[in-house]
Amino acid sequence: MRTVNAIAAVSATEPLVRTTIERRDVGARDVLIEIRYAGICHSDIHTVRGEWGTVPYPLTVGHEIVGVVAEVGGEVSKYAVGDRVGVGCMVNSCRECENCRAGQEQYCLKGNTGTYAAVDRDGTVTQGGYSTHIVVDEDFVLRVPEAIPYEKAAPLLCAGITTYSPLSHWNAGPGKKVAVVGLGGLGHMAVKIAAAMGADVTVLSQTLGKKDDGLAFGASAYHATSDPATFETLKNSFDLIINTVSAKIDMASYLRLLRLDGTFVSVGAPPEPLPVPVFALFGARRSFAGSSIGGIAETQEMLDFCAERGIAPEVELISADQVNEAYERVLKSDVRYRFVIDAETLR
Ligand code: NAP
Ligand code: ZN
Ligand code: ZN
Repeated sequence: MRTVNAIAAVSATEPLVRTTIERRDVGARDVLIEIRYAGICHSDIHTVRGEWGTVPYPLTVGHEIVGVVAEVGGEVSKYAVGDRVGVGCMVNSCRECENCRAGQEQYCLKGNTGTYAAVDRDGTVTQGGYSTHIVVDEDFVLRVPEAIPYEKAAPLLCAGITTYSPLSHWNAGPGKKVAVVGLGGLGHMAVKIAAAMGADVTVLSQTLGKKDDGLAFGASAYHATSDPATFETLKNSFDLIINTVSAKIDMASYLRLLRLDGTFVSVGAPPEPLPVPVFALFGARRSFAGSSIGGIAETQEMLDFCAERGIAPEVELISADQVNEAYERVLKSDVRYRFVIDAETLR
C-alpha cells in the first residue's frame, strides 16, 4: 500500500477537503500512474452531493485522468514506464459476460467497477482521480496520443467518450442533422465530435450567451431553449438529439424536434426521472434512448480519432484549492468548458 495526496468529499453538504488515501501495491497486471491532470465531470458533483444514492464517504471522485506510467507489474505487456496514459470511468469488469466479450465493458452484466465509489476486487472502495497516483489493471488503461496536449486530454476520458459513443452508434455523419442540448463539458465535446464526423450540428442552449463559441466548435446553428419560438421553428428537424443536460427537461418539447425515425439520446443523468409522453414518440416513430460512456476499445478509438482530427476540449486549469469554487461554477452553467485540476498542486 502507498499513501497519496488527494481531495475528498466528506459529506453531501460540506466542501471537499485535502486528505490522503491508500493505493494498493502494484499487482502483476497493474500500472501505477502518476496523475498529471484530472477533469471535473458533473457526475462527480451528482455523486458527492448524494444525488444518485448512498455515498461511501470519505470519497475521492474524478474519472477523467491522465498521467505518466511510473511503475508496471511483472505481467504487464501493453505499457512501460514513461508512457502517456489515461483512465476513464471504469477500472474493471467481469470480462466474461456477453457484453464484456463484445467490448462493451461499460454494460458488463455483473456491473463494471467504477473508478470511484465502487467495490474493488480486493473489497475496498475505489477512489478516483483527484489525487497524485492511481493503480489500475492495464486492460482498463488507455494510451494518450502525443498529438493531444496533456492538460486537454483528461476530459476526453469521460466527456469525449460519452458523446463519441452515441454519435457513432446512431451514425452521426454527412447528411445527418444532430442537435446537442446543453453546452457544458459533454455538450461542447458532442458539438466538436459530431461536426468532425460530418454531421450538421445545432446547439440548443438555455441562452444565446455562448453562441459564438458553439459556432466556433463546429455548429451551424444555435438556438435558445428559453425562447418558446425555438420549439416551433425546429419541429421535425433532427435525426439525432444528444441531451447532455444535468437537470430535468420537458421531454415532449424536445421529442417533437425529431424528424421521422429520429432518436433522442440522453447522456445527461439528472437525479429525477425524465418522463416521456408516448404520444410525442408516436407522432414520427421516434425513439428515446440512453447511453453510458463507452467500451475500452471504443475509448481508444475516440482518443485516436481526436488526435487525428485535432479535436480537444476547451479547459480551464485549476489548482487543488479551487475545486469547490469550480463545482459552484459548474452548477451555475458557468463552465468554459471543462475544469481540469493540475495534480502538481496536490504534490
Ligand atoms: P455540465 O458541464 O454542467 O453541462 C451541463 C449543461 O447542461 C450546462 O452547461 C447547461 O448548458 C445545461 N443545463 C444545466 N442545467 C440546466 C437546466 N436546469 N435546464 C437546462 N439546461 C441546463 O455537465 P457535464 O459534465 O457535461 O455532464 C452533463 C450530464 O451528463 C450530467 O448529468 C452528468 O452526470 C452526465 N454524464 C453522463 C454520462 C454517461 O455515461 N451517460 C457520462 C458523463 C456525464 P447551457 O448553459 O448550454 O444551457
Ligand atoms: Zn463523467
Ligand atoms: Zn462482464
